[in-house]
Amino acid sequence: MINIHRLTSHLHDLSTIGKTKEGGVNRFSYTNEERLASEQVKQYMVAAGLTVEYDAVGNLIGSLEGEDDLPVVLLGSHIDTVPNGGKYDGSLGVLTAIEVIHSLNEKDIRLKHPLKVIAFKDEEGTRFGFGMIGSRAVAGTLTNDDLKRVDQQGISIEQAMEQYGFDRDQFQSAKIENVKCYLEVHIEQGKVLENHDASVGNVTGIAGPVWFQFTLTGLSEHAGATPMNQRQDALVGASLIIAEAEKIAKEFPTAVATVGKLSVKPNGVNVIPGEVTWTMDIRDIDKDTRDEVEQRIRQFADKIAIERRLDLKVSELQRVEPVRCDENIQEVICDSIKEIGEPVVSLPSGAGHDGMQFKDRFPIGMIFVRSKDGISHNPKEFSSEQDIEKAANVLYRSILKLDVK
Ligand SMILES: [Zn+2]
Repeated sequence: MINIHRLTSHLHDLSTIGKTKEGGVNRFSYTNEERLASEQVKQYMVAAGLTVEYDAVGNLIGSLEGEDDLPVVLLGSHIDTVPNGGKYDGSLGVLTAIEVIHSLNEKDIRLKHPLKVIAFKDEEGTRFGFGMIGSRAVAGTLTNDDLKRVDQQGISIEQAMEQYGFDRDQFQSAKIENVKCYLEVHIEQGKVLENHDASVGNVTGIAGPVWFQFTLTGLSEHAGATPMNQRQDALVGASLIIAEAEKIAKEFPTAVATVGKLSVKPNGVNVIPGEVTWTMDIRDIDKDTRDEVEQRIRQFADKIAIERRLDLKVSELQRVEPVRCDENIQEVICDSIKEIGEPVVSLPSGAGHDGMQFKDRFPIGMIFVRSKDGISHNPKEFSSEQDIEKAANVLYRSILKLDVK
C-alpha cells in the first residue's frame, strides 16, 4: 500500500512551480519553471531510493537496480503543461510512480526487474508545436529534423537543449533498449469513469487521430433570386456530410469523428455559400475501425459532391497510428482493480500519451484516474485523493504482479 499523504503533498508542492494567477500551471519545456519542477521531482526520486540522472535530451530518469540480465520496467509520464493547465495532467503519473517505489523500498520489497521512473521531456508540445520529445528519444524515433523545429521566438529544440546544458549531439543515446514494458498512470480527461461511478480504469488503447481538411466549392449567388432547385450550396452539402460523419462514428463503440473548425465564404446573410472549408478529426484505438470510418465518410462526401454539383477537395493534415495496450498487462491491471474492491471499467484513451511512442517496441499499459466533470487542460482539473490512492495502489499491485521472470 502506498502513502497517500506523501503523494498528495508532493502533488500540491509541484503545482506551485509555474503557478498562474487563475490557479493553473505554466511549465513549458526547457524553461526555468520546468527546470525547477524537474529539480523538485529529482528530490522526490532520491528520497524514494532511486538513482537519478538526466539523459541527453533532458528526460529525468530515476533508476532502481534489479537482478542482472532482466529487461527494465519503465514507469512515467510528463511534468510539462499546456498553457494554464491543471496540476494533475502528467505530474500525477510521475509522482505516483515515485510514490510506489518509495513505498516498496520502505517495505524492503526488492524487485527482480530493474526499473526506471521517467519524467518525459515535453509531452504536450506547447512550446514547439511538437510533443512527446522525451518519449520519442527513449523510443529511438526522434530525428535530427525534429530538433530543428522552432518556438514562437525562433529558438529551435536543439538550441533550447544546448541552452539548458543538454547534449544535442548525443540525443540518440537517450534510446532505451531491452525494455520489458511501460506503465503509466494518468487522469482520464473525460467523463467515462465518472459516468460509471468508478475511481480508476484500465486503458484498452490510445486512439490515434487522423485529421483532414475538406473544401466544398459551389456557387455564391443571390439568396432571393436563385430558386431552391438551381442552387450549388456548399454549406448544405457540408452539413449533410458532417451529420453523416456523426452517424457513421456512432456505429462503432470507440470511434469518434469531430468537426471543430468551419469557415463559410462569403459568409453573408443573403448570399448562398459558395465555399465551405472544415476540418475532421477521426479517432479509434483500432486502426481498421478508424480506416473504415474514414473511408465511409469520404465516400459519402464524394456522393454528396456529385449529387449537388459541388467540387470536393480533401487534404490530410496528420495521421497518427493508434496503439493497443498489451492484453497481458490489461489483465494484470484489471485483476489489481478487482483486488482493491473496485469495479473494473476498461476504456480507450481519446487523448494522446507518451506510451504511443512505444508502439511496436515494447508492451504498454495505462491506468486512468477519474477526472471531475471530465475537465482537463484547465485550472479546474481535479481528481480526488481517494481516487488517486486507488490508482497508486493498482499500480503498486500491477508492478509486483509483472515482476516475474
Ligand atoms: Zn498528459
